[in-house]
Amino acid sequence: MTSTGRSTSRNPGAILPIEPQSRKKGGIASDRRRLGGATSPPVQAEGSSAGQLDQIKVIPRLGIVVPCFNEEEVLPETSRRLVELLETLMVDGRVANDSQVVFIDDGSRDGTWELIESLASADHRIGGIKLSRNRGHQNALLAGLYTYDADVLLSVDADLQDDIGVIPEMLQAYARGAQVVYGVRNDRSSDGLFKRATAQGFYRLMSALGAESVYNHADFRLMSRRAVDALKSFREVNLFLRGLVPLIGFSSAIVYYTRSERLAGESKYPLRKMLALALDAVTSFSVAPLRLITAMGFLVFLLSAGMVLWTVWVKLFTDRAVPGWASTLLPIYLLGGIQILCIGVLGEYLGKVYQETKARPRYIIEKHI
Ligand code: UDP
Ligand code: MG
Repeated sequence: MTSTGRSTSRNPGAILPIEPQSRKKGGIASDRRRLGGATSPPVQAEGSSAGQLDQIKVIPRLGIVVPCFNEEEVLPETSRRLVELLETLMVDGRVANDSQVVFIDDGSRDGTWELIESLASADHRIGGIKLSRNRGHQNALLAGLYTYDADVLLSVDADLQDDIGVIPEMLQAYARGAQVVYGVRNDRSSDGLFKRATAQGFYRLMSALGAESVYNHADFRLMSRRAVDALKSFREVNLFLRGLVPLIGFSSAIVYYTRSERLAGESKYPLRKMLALALDAVTSFSVAPLRLITAMGFLVFLLSAGMVLWTVWVKLFTDRAVPGWASTLLPIYLLGGIQILCIGVLGEYLGKVYQETKARPRYIIEKHI
């Protein structure tokens, strides 16, 4: 990860005063046409020196993307808090007046979509996207990032476990030039022991396997339009955004925050989904398990070569050549087990290749309001 512009205070929630946004002309492949529109603040020339003449000051349009799966319990409070924050940012001139909070309904089975519809019809600062069925958190997030047209996109979970109080700080890092700003938890005490241990074990495993990811960063992240456009060139179906985003490059920053408890309801990430995500992460970012198989095969080969020499030696030079059942039976079970395990690992990768070649859509949008 590039660390230019790594702002960061370890004081969670510290809200610093923010300068109006500035960016290079054409730096962010986005819609100046829209920003010049009626609802947006004017685009002003900046240029204190000749070299900066091509720079302009634009107040960015912010899109807060919130994936929701069966979140009717938390949505009213979440939308209230997010809209309140958006309002403050608009009043302070930090984000454009047509910024929005966009809820992505990931095929919920409760009243989540109806709730999103009613919230959106009551408030123009709220938008909604309904996926045709449940596609999982990562795909829902992607649907929001790719569909909603904004200069800056910020992803946050519906349960607001991530501290939205640091969003102004994230915007400030963006203003200083970071194209991606990672929200990183500096405290996991709100998570249960099991969740904490599995999550940390997972980050360690990922880095041991050589896959780059930001330690203790989930999907609370700010991305510029330019970064989102770059992300679009990664076409993989097996999505693990936390691993993909660092691969984009560009300058990035980290903002620390304290993770709190879920507002209400239960985790939508049961052990099954966590394991699936971990498996996706490992197999889409690392071929280390395949190399391990090769290493294991080599080791077994060396051992068997030793065994052959030993057997020949016993047969030719001693009179102890009693056929032993243990030395026959044990290798059969051992090698059988190792082989099945290796075939399993190979199958896992083959399955991934199969899915990638089919290149099925990652999500299908049913409604967009
Ligand atoms: N989520 C989703 N689709 C799913 C599962 C979860 O969109 O299939 C959303 C969920 O609504 C929430 C976010 O992903 O906004 C994170 O889920 P949760 O807070 O339950 O996970 P945890 O914080 O327990 O890891
Ligand atoms: Mg959560």
